[in-house]
Amino acid sequence: MTAREQSAARVGAPVRAQAGVQRGEVPDFAVIGGGLCGRLVAWRLAGAGRRVALYERGDAAGTQSAAWVAAAMLAPLAEAASAELLITRLGAASLDSWPRIIAELPEPVFFQRNGTLVVWHHGDRSEAPLFERRLRANAPAELLEGGLFSLSGAQINAAEPALAGRFTQGWLLPHEGQLDNRQVLAALAAGLAERGVETHWNTAIDDRELPAARITIDCRGLGAKPVLPTLRGIRGEVARVHAPGIGLARPVRLLHPRYPLYIAPKQNDLYVIGATEVEGEDMSPVSVRSALELLSAAFSVHPGFGEARILELNSQCRPTLPDHRPAIVWDGAQTLRVNGLYRHGYMIAPEVADEAVRFALALADGAIADLDAFAGWRLQAHWNELFHVDHPKSRDAVRESA
Ligand SMILES: Cc1cc2nc3c(=O)[nH]c(=O)nc-3n(C[C@H](O)[C@H](O)[C@H](O)COP(=O)(O)OP(=O)(O)OC[C@H]3O[C@@H](n4cnc5c(N)ncnc54)[C@H](O)[C@@H]3O)c2cc1C
Repeated sequence: MTAREQSAARVGAPVRAQAGVQRGEVPDFAVIGGGLCGRLVAWRLAGAGRRVALYERGDAAGTQSAAWVAAAMLAPLAEAASAELLITRLGAASLDSWPRIIAELPEPVFFQRNGTLVVWHHGDRSEAPLFERRLRANAPAELLEGGLFSLSGAQINAAEPALAGRFTQGWLLPHEGQLDNRQVLAALAAGLAERGVETHWNTAIDDRELPAARITIDCRGLGAKPVLPTLRGIRGEVARVHAPGIGLARPVRLLHPRYPLYIAPKQNDLYVIGATEVEGEDMSPVSVRSALELLSAAFSVHPGFGEARILELNSQCRPTLPDHRPAIVWDGAQTLRVNGLYRHGYMIAPEVADEAVRFALALADGAIADLDAFAGWRLQAHWNELFHVDHPKSRDAVRESA
């Protein structure tokens, strides 16, 4: 077995942490930031039998995270309209991993793999060939093959009866998925408890006073900006509405030159309508303009949304690096940073977290002691483009490359 296979085997075969972390004992790993990525990483490490502590500035529900606001669509092919091949490949692999993760969690999570429907109003029909061209350029062949079907109006009626008679053309991307983001966060919190992770909710960590641990894994999303200065936030706004009687069976994307929109149906007639994409780290409440755009676009997809009840208008910022790629950054010593999941956190987190966990275990076990060993590790890593080192002796610093 290679080093990667050995550590992969450890990641894939959960072992209950022998005794969890006893108070006062130095854990193997301190994970800072308990949004999506931090919870997954901590849960995986504990599953590999390691002693883990997790520190989150917000509550156990995850309300301070981008992950709390997200629509949690797992749509690597639809995202190929704006994302590059690395992201769509990570997304395709992660989509296969989610059911396995959910099966191991102690609480149920709504997960669906019922595809994405893409539609457009007649006046915006010039968007459709652009969308198709981008997908064909950015998506891996295995996603495109059997993954993209042009639909006539009658076929849309058959696939999504709720939209019968409303659109004359569309695309069906039958393999795509989605899940309930808040259920994932809750189930992961329960999974952390089950695996003996020492959780510190409502505990903000300052870089000058890091908690004691052999290895620190920084998963603070935008909160890592002091140490990753090129990180930026891209604001997203969403509406959560209750709309009984519409009955969409899958996420619907509306192509539009200015207001592209998605409507993601969750359980119990709940719909997440999103999302704006605005440069800037503005966490203020949703603007009137954005609310009007989102809600009127949803109304234009189905007039039933006119009678929906607005449960929430919410905003958050997507943690984004200059190249819009995720990154696993090693400081050359005992700290690893996992960040830059941008608008694809749910779509790619399983693969990114697994890659980070494999590296963290190798670091803890002394297999990566210097920059040469790091270079060797990166060479044989499955997702080698994710790895960076931010060390004075290396030119490959994320800061320098930005
Ligand atoms: C509007 C919107 C819609 C989205 N829709 C989708 C979608 O449909 N599909 C998809 O795949 N992705 C989507 N995303 C993206 C996804 O939410 C993010 O990529 C993902 O949440 C990033 O995960 P993370 O763990 O890196 O960051 P976060 O989820 O933000 O978690 C970071 C955590 O670190 C904590 N933290 C910060 N500073 C500190 C500190 N000093 N001490 C302790 N804790 C700290 C924060 O409180 C937070 O809980 C969407 C995002 C937004 C905003």
